[in-house]
Amino acid sequence: MLRNTPIPAVEIRDVTLNYFTPERETLALSNITLDVAKGEFIALVGSSGCGKSTLLTLVSGLMPPSRGSIKVDGLDVTAPSPSVGFMFQKDTLLDWRSIVDNVMLGAELLGLDRRRARLRAETLLTRYGLGEFMHSLPHQLSGGMRQRAALARTLCCEPDLLLLDEPFSALDYQTRLALSDEIAAILQAEGKTVILVTHDIGEAISMADRVIVMSRRPGRIKSEHQISFPSFGDKRPTPFEARKCPEFAQYFQTIWDELDLHEVH
Ligand code: ADP
Ligand code: MG
Repeated sequence: MLRNTPIPAVEIRDVTLNYFTPERETLALSNITLDVAKGEFIALVGSSGCGKSTLLTLVSGLMPPSRGSIKVDGLDVTAPSPSVGFMFQKDTLLDWRSIVDNVMLGAELLGLDRRRARLRAETLLTRYGLGEFMHSLPHQLSGGMRQRAALARTLCCEPDLLLLDEPFSALDYQTRLALSDEIAAILQAEGKTVILVTHDIGEAISMADRVIVMSRRPGRIKSEHQISFPSFGDKRPTPFEARKCPEFAQYFQTIWDELDLHEVH
């Protein structure tokens, strides 16, 4: 079939997800439809429990939707794929493995060439300022350093699509700001497609091309906002620069008003 537009990196069509437990059935997501273009950085925001992690899990192929379909690069998602990297809130580094061995873990599990993976792990760690810590154990690193190592591990398998589930939320505010700048630069340089889940509106606006606001459970897409900072022209400002633009405060106010945070249940 001829198509005028390129195939999106991710196509989510009418996705619904029910969780079943012995006690109850929970409708976590209802009729989610969303396309993510190749190289696009989108942020999903919404209050706790609205289904953000569930949606990422479905895109990763760890769980199938109850209804609807999900495609990555034009192919139906049926299982986890090496072309998709998933990074969690907790860094999940293994305490007994050195940092470089942790970074190689995913590549090892996928059965990729060890020497090549080792070389790539070392290159990434050096690039992210962790060269001196390659042979350290995770507990010898600060929270921000551990998250950089976790990002290196995710990128070591060379995924095209990155799913980031609140990767900065366990960090203190300053570390979070510094790390989001670094990570934005890394991801931009690598031309990755990114879906970032966060409950931090500022993080979403300062990092993403587009912010998707989800409603309370069952999660639906409530609105979306294309983010642009005209004074930077075609260039994207760093998250730090973005926070200083006048548009930042306007986006913040609009999205804040749309989140159901103020409704007390
Ligand atoms: P968020 O990441 O936005 O905080 P989640 O996707 O984790 O939300 O959860 C959405 C809803 O689904 C919540 O009400 C949560 O309690 C429920 N839920 C999540 N995981 C499970 C599970 N494994 N079994 C049953 N219910 C779940
Ligand atoms: Mg979550």
